[in-house]
This record gives sequence, C-alpha cells and structure tokens, in this order.
Amino acid sequence: MKEQSMINRAMHFIVHNGFLFTVIIMGLVHVTLLGIMLADGIMPLVQFNILSIVVYGFCIVLCKTGHIMPVYLSIQAEVMAYTIISTYYIGLRCGTYCFLFSIVPIIIYFGSFLFTGWARWNVVVSLVLNFAVFVVLYLIFVDSAPVFEMSHFARNVLVIFSYFVMVFSTIFYNANYIYISEMKVGSLEQENKQLSADAQEDALTSLLNRRGFLPLIDSLMKSESEVHFCISFCDIDNFKRINDTYGHDAGDEVLRHITRMIKREMNGCEICRWGGEEIIILMRDYDMAVAKVRMEYLRKSIETNPTVFFNHRIFTTITIGLEEYADKYTDPEEIIKVADDRMYYGKQHGKNILISETPEK
Ligand code: GH3
Ligand code: MG
Ligand code: MG
Repeated sequence: MKEQSMINRAMHFIVHNGFLFTVIIMGLVHVTLLGIMLADGIMPLVQFNILSIVVYGFCIVLCKTGHIMPVYLSIQAEVMAYTIISTYYIGLRCGTYCFLFSIVPIIIYFGSFLFTGWARWNVVVSLVLNFAVFVVLYLIFVDSAPVFEMSHFARNVLVIFSYFVMVFSTIFYNANYIYISEMKVGSLEQENKQLSADAQEDALTSLLNRRGFLPLIDSLMKSESEVHFCISFCDIDNFKRINDTYGHDAGDEVLRHITRMIKREMNGCEICRWGGEEIIILMRDYDMAVAKVRMEYLRKSIETNPTVFFNHRIFTTITIGLEEYADKYTDPEEIIKVADDRMYYGKQHGKNILISETPEK
C-alpha cells in the first residue's frame, strides 16, 4: 500500500514535470555517450556530445520558463542531427539510429498535448520526417565504411545502450499515457458521482438516489393526514458473480434491465437506487396484502426474464424485504432498516424470496 502510494507520487511528479524530466534524461544520455566517445577517442562526437549537453542545459531553462514548444522542436532537431552525424563518423553498425526511434513516443506523447484537432498533423509530419531520415541514412551508409572504426567493446556498449534507450522510452511514455488516462477516468467518475448526487438522480439507472428519495418518505411521515405506504428493499442475488463471469459492463446492463422491469411493473411508485445493487420501492397507498402480491409478481418476472447482453442470456433473481408504515416509525431510516433486515434474512434463507415479517428470534 505504502509502495503503491510512493509509485503514485513518483508518477504524479513525472507526469507533471514531463518535459523537464525528458530533457534531463536526454542530457544524461549524452553524458553517457560522451564517456563512450571519449574512451574510444572519437573527437568529433566528443565535441557534438558536449554541444548536445549544452542544448539540453538550455532546454532545462526553457522548461522552467514555460517555453515548451522550442523544447519539443529542439529535442527532435538534436536527435536527428546527432543520428546523422554519428552514423557518418562511426557507421550504421553502432546502432545510434535507435535514438531516432526512441523519440517516436516522445513526439507522440508531447505532441498530443501541444497540438489539438487538425494541428496534430504536426505530429504526423514529425514522424514522417523521422522515418525519412532513417531511410535516407540507411540507403547512404549501409555499404560504406565509417570515418572511425570503433573498438569491439565500445561498439557493443553503444549498440546495447542505444537499444536500451529506445526500449526505455517506449515503455516509459506509454506508462505515462496509461497513468494520465486512468487519472482522467478517475476524476470523470468522481465528477459524475458528484453531478448525480447534485441532480438527486443515479447516473446509470436514472432512478432517484438517496438524496432525492429520503425526503419523499420524510414528507409522507410528516403529513397531517393519515398515510399508508409500504417500503420494499430489493437486492440482486449473486451480483458479484455476474460481474466476475460476464464483466462489469454486463453487470451494468443487468442493473438497467432490472430497473426497466421494476419501472414497468411498479408504475406509479417511487424507485430509488439505494446502493450498488440495492433498489428501494416506495409504494404509496399500498397496504401489506397488496404490496405482497405486487412484489411477489415482480420477483417472479425478474426470475423469468433474463438480461440479454450480446449473445448471453443472464438470469438473475432478487431478494426482497417488505415493511408497511406504522406510527411507531418516526424516521425514514427506521422503516428502511426493518425492510433491509428482512431482505438480509431472505439472503440467509436461500435468496430469491420475499420476506414480509420479522421472524421470531
Ligand atoms: P448477495 O446475493 O449476497 O447479495 O451477493 P452479491 O454478490 O449480490 O453481493 P455483494 O455485496 O457481495 O456484491 C455486490 C457487487 O455489486 C459488488 C460490486 O462490485 C457490484 N456493484 C456495485 N455497484 C455496481 C455497478 O454500478 N455496476 C456493476 N456492474 N457492479 C456493481
Ligand atoms: Mg446482492
Ligand atoms: Mg447488496
């Protein structure tokens, strides 16, 4: 749990400082390359690596001052220039063309934030240019001897390092993208919940939520005239198993299907999605005898009418706890609690059943 939150915090930091993190990594890549070139005495590339490190140092300043577009373009220009020059001096076999591919995820990832709509053609143009550079380099240098012949060891290190940078970049920016998408989905779900709470309506089923429902019972209880009503607490049986077997979307469809059936069978009643797979029905002017008949009919209808989800027919049942209003109840939660307890008793005694009395202890 603690580890999870540390990873989350690190991802949060990286995502929010994406450009800065990228230019620092690019700078470190060139520090490593500088070491390799120095060790092998390839002086033109030593100089170019120093220049690259200076460029990325400058990019850090640009990031800090919010000049993101120049940084985006500098990264692409620097990597293309480095690939061309290094391939010219040490040849294709040293693998530095991998750096071209390592910036593909960077071009896509940051491009998708910097450009919107049709302006995303810029991203496509960058990718095409990147690929064109590779093709041209390959065709020119595939058969020609390099200016410098690197030692075996340095070349092996360079090939493995270039490949590593490419793989790291692919994994890293994809992971960032997934993290951001999940963050956005999470906050949208949160907003959705808030909106439905404000709207007093459940977003999935369009039934009343608690906030919209409780005041209805409350006002009935406070009414001056004599009132009759019944409360029915329904809970879908083995709903978790439906989610586990057919997936969450199927579970959602079962909820919508059962809601449609309740609305149809209990026309004129107020219906509330109390919680996950719990639905409460307020039956105004019903006495217990009538409510029992109607709820028993509903229970059987649900049992015999499966939800159709793609090519599946998902059979479901509900367990119901029923209670009739009496003067002893002064708060909506009290009568709901009794109906809930009866429903719970039904769950413990086989499910798919209607319980309308509190059993003797
Ligand atoms: P029981 O017969 O005892 O009621 O078992 P159950 O599996 O129906 O009850 P449990 O409380 O174990 O699981 C309820 C499940 O309902 C767990 C939760 O993931 C799922 N759930 C809650 N809200 C939703 C929803 O909006 N959509 C979907 N698909 N599943 C939901
Ligand atoms: Mg259930
Ligand atoms: Mg439940």
